[in-house]
Amino acid sequence: MGPVLTATISTSAIAHNLKVVRSLCPRQKVLAMIKADGYGHGLINVAKALSEADAFGVARIHEATALDGHTQNLIVLMEGVQSKEELDLACAKGYAMVVHSLDQAMMLKEHPQTLPFWLKLNVGMNRLGMDQAQAILAWELLKDKRHAMIGWMGHLAQADELDLSATNEQTQRFVEWTQAFEGQRTLANSAGVLHWSETHFDWVRPGIMLYGASPIEGTTGVDHGLRPAMELNSTLIAVQHVKKGEAIGYGATFTAANDLRIGVVAAGYGDGYPRHAQTGTPVLVEGEPSRLVARVSMDMLTVDITHIPQATVGSSVTLWGTDLPIEQVAHHAGTISYELYCQLTNRVHHQWID
Ligand SMILES: *Cc1c(COP(=O)(O)O)cnc(C)c1O
Repeated sequence: MGPVLTATISTSAIAHNLKVVRSLCPRQKVLAMIKADGYGHGLINVAKALSEADAFGVARIHEATALDGHTQNLIVLMEGVQSKEELDLACAKGYAMVVHSLDQAMMLKEHPQTLPFWLKLNVGMNRLGMDQAQAILAWELLKDKRHAMIGWMGHLAQADELDLSATNEQTQRFVEWTQAFEGQRTLANSAGVLHWSETHFDWVRPGIMLYGASPIEGTTGVDHGLRPAMELNSTLIAVQHVKKGEAIGYGATFTAANDLRIGVVAAGYGDGYPRHAQTGTPVLVEGEPSRLVARVSMDMLTVDITHIPQATVGSSVTLWGTDLPIEQVAHHAGTISYELYCQLTNRVHHQWID
């Protein structure tokens, strides 16, 4: 028998999801976002599954060096470089960087070498990026290196909220600020790819959708023709008969309203399963719909199997995957699929298929 708790990840699902991006953005290049260990799926294997992408985006330089020898694709440092040493390394390795502030522009200007770069505009997120005046200054500062400039980048703050005008306003600002300049343009994340075709420009930057999840509240990846790349499966390690009126788990937060058969699953917050998942969070046992009850503990969680008589010690449990959208689990835990993927711990065994 294999490990009790396994994340099974499908190469072909990730490759399929990239094809969905291509079909929505047939004229655009794809900067595939693989930061944070490929959204928790495993950096190197994700990069291999996405070898058809035009470039990769990572947040920190060590995520780029971790790909040494594993990819030929251009790697973009989405937060730029944080020191002269990092810039030396980025130039030596042939990475591209995002220049998101005048400090970064100065650092690059003063460096004897150069590397491909994007100038980043703050179109409304107020996180990274320059305003229009700063961007013009950076453009002037980097005059001697402009041959290496790829173009202009912006980032959307609310593209997942379909009923707001914010995305239109941020897109308009991006167009106004960049239209007088040469260079390629990129604005769209997954939500932009899926819902805002006017944000596609020359490059798109999908992340979450490559892993088969939806960035849009109330929808799942499958609704958009995506295939969830990860299936998180565990096993029942014990069964309890809990009498009406008895409580279960730490804090006795759940009391049985009638006699229950309870399955104990080998998965807990020590594996990255969210501790804040509420009673009622969906779980599959032997493929049958069940629900989490009581508090999630470090190594275990408990599920109601009263209506699943065939469920017994050794039964398979699906915590999320193709038949149980991670978006639903995230919703019950007051979070988003992104966080669930990223917080899986290294106690979870990873297995790659097809
Ligand atoms: C992470 C990231 C993306 C991808 O966002 P998703 O919502 O996962 O598609 C795009 N652009 C930037 C700058 C990012 O940091």
